Amino acid sequence: MAQDYYQILGVERDATAQEVKKAYRKKARELHPDHNPTDEAAEEFKTVTHAYEVLSNAEKRRNYDATGHEDGRRAGFGGAGGGFGGFSDIFETFFGGGGGGGPMSRARRGQDALIATHIDLEDAVFGTEQTIDVETAVRCDRCDGAAMEPGTHPETCTTCRGAGQISRPVDSILGRMMTTEACPTCRGFGDVITDPCGKCSGQGRVRERVSFTVKIPAGVRDGTRIQLAGRGEAGVAGGPNGDLYLEIRVRDHDVFTREGDNLHATMAVPMTAASLGTKIKVETFDGEETFTVEPGTQSGHVITMKGLGAHRLQGTGRGDMKIMLNVTTPTKLDDEQRELMAQLAELRAEDVANGEIESRGFFSRLKTGFDNMFSHDES
Ligand SMILES: [Zn+2]
Ligand SMILES: [Zn+2]
Repeated sequence: MAQDYYQILGVERDATAQEVKKAYRKKARELHPDHNPTDEAAEEFKTVTHAYEVLSNAEKRRNYDATGHEDGRRAGFGGAGGGFGGFSDIFETFFGGGGGGGPMSRARRGQDALIATHIDLEDAVFGTEQTIDVETAVRCDRCDGAAMEPGTHPETCTTCRGAGQISRPVDSILGRMMTTEACPTCRGFGDVITDPCGKCSGQGRVRERVSFTVKIPAGVRDGTRIQLAGRGEAGVAGGPNGDLYLEIRVRDHDVFTREGDNLHATMAVPMTAASLGTKIKVETFDGEETFTVEPGTQSGHVITMKGLGAHRLQGTGRGDMKIMLNVTTPTKLDDEQRELMAQLAELRAEDVANGEIESRGFFSRLKTGFDNMFSHDES
């Protein structure tokens, strides 16, 4: 998309508004369908006209000069999409608004919609089914989208005689020319509905609450959007439905957090258990699992349980469960316990309770401690 609009129009970057206009006029004449009725010319005409659109507008041009591209057309919901949407009158003047003559269809595609749904972490890990309840536009069942009373027919427009378009002369920057435009009487449809459907007021659709079940795949994350084709609003006058986008919001879990496809948790282990070794039972999403704490386990040690994480949304297999052990130092010792601790310290030649620790020998490069894999340090 990185097109140089100045190059396209063949002008210098400091060209005046007059020069830009002049250059465009020259190009447009060459490429005008009257002189050059090829598809390539039409394409180039679009490009040239678009460049002119930007450079002839002071604000757009300033923005283009500053950023190297024009302000992004906002992609997203409700956008009809389609090439040069919202594009200048000049183009329509040349090629006709309806894009090639003939009456337009009344039918228009329904809008896309976006709704959020909340699920638990466990459901994100394994997938689930969710009932969606949404107010939307649905096809009118009285007229079946036709927008007119059943049994009636639209009448051919008398203004345009069914063509949907009328021609009239206009003055453009290329001089006086004939232009076709949508017939104002029938709005380009070529016919007029004389008896609009009473239920939908001639829209072909009505608002209703609908509810349906959606399968949410295993491995979805907070923020994952699922596209449900045809679940958006019903179109106008029998047009196709838009799509519904379901945005997944995953509720926080008391114990586990998700990092990629892994599940993380922090667990407190008493100093004595960490020192002597033990087995610990954990309630996982797959049921109770037991893991071993080896004697001499340090605080910050991470136990990995393979394959107990989330299913991978794309691909197969599952992530891991990682449990970081947080060794807790006993507090509030009674006399007997304090005595035992002191004895232990003495036996281990760590008798520093009444002295001071020499920093040398105790400092170490605690890289692993700071390089902690858990970003949320909630010990
Ligand atoms: Zn109706
Ligand atoms: Zn008409």
